[in-house]
Amino acid sequence: MTAFWTQPDFDAHEMVHFVHDRESGLTAIIAVHSSHLGPGAGGTRFWHYADPEAAVRDALRLSRGMSYKNAMAGLPLGGGKAVILADENRTKTPEMLAAFGAAIEGLGGQYVTAEDVGISEADMVAVSEKTQHVTGLPVRGDGLAGGDPGPFTAIGIAKGIEAAVRYRLGKDSMEGVHVALQGTGSVGGGVARLLAKAGARLTLADIDAAGAKALADELGAETVTADEIMTTPCDVFSPNALGAILDAQSIAKLDTRIVAGGANNQLARAEHGRALFERGILYAPDYVINAGGIMSVGTEYLARRDGRVGKVEEVHALLDQIPGRLEAIWRASEDIGESPDVVADRMAQGLIGRE
Ligand code: NAD
Repeated sequence: MTAFWTQPDFDAHEMVHFVHDRESGLTAIIAVHSSHLGPGAGGTRFWHYADPEAAVRDALRLSRGMSYKNAMAGLPLGGGKAVILADENRTKTPEMLAAFGAAIEGLGGQYVTAEDVGISEADMVAVSEKTQHVTGLPVRGDGLAGGDPGPFTAIGIAKGIEAAVRYRLGKDSMEGVHVALQGTGSVGGGVARLLAKAGARLTLADIDAAGAKALADELGAETVTADEIMTTPCDVFSPNALGAILDAQSIAKLDTRIVAGGANNQLARAEHGRALFERGILYAPDYVINAGGIMSVGTEYLARRDGRVGKVEEVHALLDQIPGRLEAIWRASEDIGESPDVVADRMAQGLIGRE
């Protein structure tokens, strides 16, 4: 590996902590990109990487992404991320999770963790036995922030889609607006329900075709195959499945005025934001529109840290800011002729003192 801090992904990370615990076999990386706004917060990924360098790159990229996301969510949290390097069999033991919790506790609150790919709520409960710097724990009552982030993410996306429809189509209502939605899982399913209630016309697709069909029947929507959804003529294309779906080929075939959905890292590469902009398709930067989940678990953590319980109303107050933030990005994008993803990154860099 070349000098660590000259790698492009390093991007002046404040801290990268390498953890190895011989007894449990835990190998992990904890990265904090920025603590300018507060402790570095972001989930833990449990993944089998081809090589350790890939794990370092993933931790660095994801941690920087969390700096931007938390800043744009209006949370007093910095950006961090952890990866646990799994073996080929993805063996995960209570001892590993305990050692991981102890490592987080040893950082004295510089890093706050939560669930990510490969880590369940039950895993987080196990980690929380060794450290208080955990969020996304099960909620024990109505009206509380935290717990499953999916429904909050969906609310934020639905609000963001309504804002995009107002901005690009000049419509104050979703009545009759055609939304083609890719992925009907936790987030996509929630978005579909909210938009159906608001009167949108929906076309749904999922590789789980039966799941998409069942939801479509419930909502009076149509379905197409997973291969057809990105070329379906619509007003809004809403990606809520995988990342890296927007590349030169797929963008050329889109038949929509707006792309707005919850999937992380939708642009295959940075230049694809420009490609959407040049085609006149309004893009809602993914980490701005899909921040509802972190708004909820972030509120849960910050309240607990202050010795109180986070309320769902606090999360809704943050969710209500998503439309205005998106509109500011779109307006600036038009004014300066840059794509919305570039504008959003610049705004986030400003918020974390890295202009
Ligand atoms: P999920 O696993 O519940 O749902 C994903 C759905 O996408 C599944 O139903 C799956 O079958 C479907 N899918 C996968 N590949 C597909 C394809 N090629 N075409 C159509 N459908 C496909 O996951 P989720 O929690 O709903 O997350 C969805 C996306 O949103 C992910 O990119 C995730 O990183 C992102 N995200 C989720 C949250 C959250 O709170 N859960 C927060 C921010 C971002």
